[in-house]
This record gives sequence, structure tokens and C-alpha cells, in this order.
Amino acid sequence: MIKALTASALHPLIDQIAALGKEIIKPHAAQWDRDNQFPHQAIQTLATHGLLGICVDERWGGMGKSLTELAVIIEGIARYDAGTALTLAAHGLVCDHLQLFGDEAQQQRYLPRLARGDILGGWALAEAGSGSDAASIKTRAEKNEDGWLINGRKMFVTQGSVAGLYVVMARSGEHRRSAISAFLVERELDGVKPSAPLEKLGCRSSNTSALHLDAVQVSDQQRLGEEHRALSAAFILLDRGRVGIAALACGLIRASLEDSRCHARRRQQFGQPIASFQAIQWPLAEMATHYDAGWLLTAHAAMLCNSTQPCGTSAAKAKLFASQAAVKSSEQAVQIHGGYGYLKNLPVERYFRDAKLCEIGEGTSEIQKLVIARELLKEE
Ligand SMILES: Cc1cc2nc3c(=O)[nH]c(=O)nc-3n(C[C@H](O)[C@H](O)[C@H](O)COP(=O)(O)OP(=O)(O)OC[C@H]3O[C@@H](n4cnc5c(N)ncnc54)[C@H](O)[C@@H]3O)c2cc1C
Repeated sequence: MIKALTASALHPLIDQIAALGKEIIKPHAAQWDRDNQFPHQAIQTLATHGLLGICVDERWGGMGKSLTELAVIIEGIARYDAGTALTLAAHGLVCDHLQLFGDEAQQQRYLPRLARGDILGGWALAEAGSGSDAASIKTRAEKNEDGWLINGRKMFVTQGSVAGLYVVMARSGEHRRSAISAFLVERELDGVKPSAPLEKLGCRSSNTSALHLDAVQVSDQQRLGEEHRALSAAFILLDRGRVGIAALACGLIRASLEDSRCHARRRQQFGQPIASFQAIQWPLAEMATHYDAGWLLTAHAAMLCNSTQPCGTSAAKAKLFASQAAVKSSEQAVQIHGGYGYLKNLPVERYFRDAKLCEIGEGTSEIQKLVIARELLKEE
């Protein structure tokens, strides 16, 4: 399905991801979900295929590919497990941050290890009191003679308790928007205390934790990007991250459709397959249309982000549409499966729970609408 909408040069990658997904993810996804279990082994296998450094420059041991390839990978993995796809997306955000805003020494120090999967990255912006309003973070970085002293508490850090490296956004001055800096914080430093993994509705194979930073001392060489300018950098990264979540949502739409089509053909009621009822055909047709539209928006936004053109509005549109379509499609999938869709031994109820994350993470659907409307109403 994705092949029909994607350039033929990407078909080998699509096939590779489909094969890997079936082999190393599909057989275990239900158990990871049940046990809230982070799939260390599967992530290492993905790393050996170079998939943790897909957008990392080749000179740092990555594959040097674009956001389009990352989106293909996230979609293909999400088809079998959205939590694992979320891990790749969040790790990609840290790689992107270093690649776009890091200096040579920082890139040399961390990107090869991130690309090999020796360490995972966690990107820490949100806090208990600051989600949609990212400028209101309270974590502080105070300048001292050894560099910076960081104190605060981050919330919802994907890879929070399995990462080896965090990018931490912290308030470095008094101005609300233009006094936030980013720091590379290694897990082993004194004062870095991740919480136990949080129990979530869905995407349960991804690791989400709070992160306490108690008097964490870093040198000025660990400051990532320009001093005080991290919020505008974060917004650029979030545009790319939203393409990733849109791709993840597309994977969930495809999963919902493929499983529903298969069930509708097999399941007999009133002496015929339920696929013969128009009431079942309509949601299948809607899912297929949502998939195509979602993927085309996602691929378009990825293409813009790969170029030097502004991609924020397109990324917001892709994420808004694909996320809502994933929630709708997975709900339709449960309905098509009837009572069996409500049971834990089929994956469609998991798709339903996983899809909801897409409307929340990397900016809620409401925030995507604000981004789109702001552009529409901008003075010419
Ligand atoms: C599983 C998971 C993983 C995550 N991973 C990360 C991560 O790795 N790093 C990270 O930094 N963050 C991460 N997040 C945080 C995520 O980005 C935030 O949860 C999200 O931005 C929403 O913030 P909030 O939860 O504080 O909700 P709030 O901002 O409190 O929003 C609550 C509700 O109010 C609405 N709302 C808020 N402001 C407005 C407005 N101006 N207009 C209209 N409606 C509004 C929202 O849309 C929402 O419906 C993750 C979250 C989850 C659930």
C-alpha cells in the first residue's frame, strides 16, 4: 500500500522494514504491551541494521538519509508496534538536535554512539507545569565557574529511564521565550535521576519517565546550540518530530485496515463474509482513503523539511490529519472485529490505545490547529 504512494527508490527500504517488523517485532508486540516492557533486544537488532542513525551523517557512522526515509521506517515499524516506532522517533529527535545545532566536538563525541545504538537519546522539554506552553518551563540552568548547574524536573521523557544521553531544555535567563538553553546531559552524571517507567494507556513498549535533575553540573561545552536560543531550535525540531508522529499514525491506520480487511473476508455471519455488507465496506474504504491522504501529507511535509523551505504548517497538517485518522481507523477496526476486537488476544484494541498518543505527543491536535490557523491569519 505504501509502495503505491512512494518513490520506487524507497521500495527496498520499505521491504526491509516490513521483513524486520514481521520477524523481530510482530511476534512480541503483545507481550511488550502487556508487560510495559521496553524491547532492548529488538532495538539493538534495529541498530545493527543502521536504523538508529538513519538521518545521522555518514561521517559519524550514520546512513545520511533524509526525513523521508525516517518516516518510511517509523511507518513500517508502527504497523507492528507503535511503541517501538515512538522510540525511534524520539531517538531521532536527539540525533537531529545534535546534527542541526551541535558543534563539531559534540557531534564527534555523541553521534557515532547514538547512530550505533550504543546509547539511546531522550529529549526533555516538557515538565509537569509546562506542556503545550513550552516557554513556561521552570527547570533552571545557572551559570557558574565550571559551566552550568541544572536543577528541575522533566516530565514525559521518552526513553527517560533507558537513555544514555538527554537533551535538556532549561531556563538560562529571565526572558520568557528567549532565555532557554539546551544542554547535553549524560545519564551517569551525579544528580540525574530518572523515575521508574510511567504506566501508559498505549505505546507501552516505549519507555516514558520523569527526570529529576538535582544540582547537575555540566561544562559550557555541553551547551547545545546558541545560549538562550533553544526554544526556537526546539520548534524547528518539533516540526520534524511531527512528521515522525504523522508517519507513526499512518502505520497504525495501515495496521487497522490490513487486520480489518482480513477479518472481514474470513468472518461469516448470516451465511456470508461480513465483507459483503456495505456497513463493513464503508469503514474499510474510509481507512484506505485516510491512509493515502495521511501518507501523502506526511511525505509532502517530510520533503519540505528536507529542503530549506518552511515546513511547520505542513508538518502540523500531516500530524493533525493522520493522528485523527488513526484514532478513527483503529476505532473502526475494533468495531469491524466485533467482540473479538474488544479482546486482548487480537491486536486491534492495542492499535486503538496506541493511536491516542498521536493526538497528544509532540503537540496536541489543538496546538496543531493553532499552528495552521496562525499561518492562515498572518498579515500578508
Ligand atoms: C507518551 C508520551 C511521550 C512523550 N514524550 C515526550 C518527550 O520525549 N519529550 C518531551 O519533551 N515531551 C514529551 N511528551 C509530552 C507531550 O509533548 C505533552 O504531553 C504535550 O505537548 C501536551 O502537553 P500536556 O500534557 O502538558 O497537556 P496541556 O498542555 O496541559 O494540555 C491539556 C489540554 O489543553 C489543551 N490546550 C492547551 N493549550 C491550549 C491552547 N492554547 N488552545 C487550545 N487548547 C489548548 C491541549 O490541547 C490539551 O487538550 C510526551 C507525552 C506523552 C503522553
